[in-house]
Amino acid sequence: TEAHIAALEKARVLNAYLLETPDRALKMAEVSDAKIAAGEARPLEGLPLGIKDLFCTHGVVTTAGSKILEGFEPHYESAVTHNLWRDGAVMLGKLNLDEFAMGSSNETSAYGTVVSPWRRAGSEAPLVPGGSSGGSAAAVAARLCLGATATDTGGSIRQPAAFTGTVGIKPTYGRCSRWGTVAFASSLDQAGPIARTVRDCAILLGSMAGPDARDTTCADLPVPDFEAALGRGVKGLTIGIPKEYRVEGMPAEIQRLWDQGAAWLREAGAEIREISLPHTRYALPAYYIVAPAEASSNLARYDGVRYGLRVPGRDIVGMYENTRAAGFGREVKRRIMIGTYVLSAGYYDAYYVRAQKIRTLIKRDFEAAYAAGVDAILTPATPSAAFGVGEKASADPVEMYLNDVFTVTVNMAGLPGIAVPAGLDAQGLPLGLQLIGRPFDEETLFAAAQAIE
Ligand code: GLN
Repeated sequence: TEAHIAALEKARVLNAYLLETPDRALKMAEVSDAKIAAGEARPLEGLPLGIKDLFCTHGVVTTAGSKILEGFEPHYESAVTHNLWRDGAVMLGKLNLDEFAMGSSNETSAYGTVVSPWRRAGSEAPLVPGGSSGGSAAAVAARLCLGATATDTGGSIRQPAAFTGTVGIKPTYGRCSRWGTVAFASSLDQAGPIARTVRDCAILLGSMAGPDARDTTCADLPVPDFEAALGRGVKGLTIGIPKEYRVEGMPAEIQRLWDQGAAWLREAGAEIREISLPHTRYALPAYYIVAPAEASSNLARYDGVRYGLRVPGRDIVGMYENTRAAGFGREVKRRIMIGTYVLSAGYYDAYYVRAQKIRTLIKRDFEAAYAAGVDAILTPATPSAAFGVGEKASADPVEMYLNDVFTVTVNMAGLPGIAVPAGLDAQGLPLGLQLIGRPFDEETLFAAAQAIE
């Protein structure tokens, strides 16, 4: 813990941490020392972690990367972080993220972008760490924590993991409780870990997950021993390669990486089978209707009364307007407007209802593949390696949304997905592959990801 606290102070240029909590960390580490000395070590005893600033932490400012929550001190602890502290982990601080987890580069944070510790060969130009869990990924990659919590609504664990050469898993929807995590799109949001290795992710997820009556969508299922699944290998498994993921304009190096990943799994004893997920191309447009719709509803609670920021106005409506105008950033306002539009009476059937129907079709594509004997599906994690700071944050938001093309399907179908580093591009930047599993079968993902790692 002391070594990490010292490292944080030297790495502030990355802007990965929004808040460092060294005093709390040292106190927690002292408790851990005592537990270890007494022979009562808990599963994560003394492991220093970073916490995405979307998880409410009791008495510790939680901003969701937004000005509207500036200074907000929750009087409760999120279920996921509660589980980590129960198991002996140590909190180093709160990690930067895109505002309300809306983004793919961490550039929408109200507290400045996170810079990736990676650089292209021969260049000093700063690169994005991905998003929205950019602080989590950069902190793990730069060794500013042993592991980090993250959340994934449309790729926000897997894409930043792929951009930074780290491992990230979005478990099945319902595996982790959403209680006490700031909501973005409630039917898509899932918590998961980002860490250095598949094993570390298995250990962390084992602690984060578990039933919770306070989140009615949280599955009432025992948490498997994910670590025990690691040694299983892939012999006898059937791995699907979905042809629809061969998207137009995909760089040759991504195709090569994907072929290489399939070859590694085949050598390790898996059968590789080409499959079809015919509705894949509708996933991204449908996601960018469903997610903003739910976001516009979830963000209605930031009214200047209940949380954080308040900007006075003529009357109460003026106060709402001034607070929301000052408190939300551009991307969040864009999502609220899109969401309000697609939910409005005149357009509800044309957009929201259709997007929900597409969602069902996407889910059925996966169900058909699994029913035909596929155990897991291999795809690239992202359509490219990390891009430069400012490169895609320009005028057209769709440019940024396209980065999520391989990750959003998994959230739409509620399935588990893991991103695992698989190689470097021509400029020396990390590239990741994604494995998608059956519902509540993270164990197969951990076993297969180890064959690639
Ligand atoms: N990039 C996607 C978005 O902006 C996903 C974000 C996430 O998973 N939280 O909506």
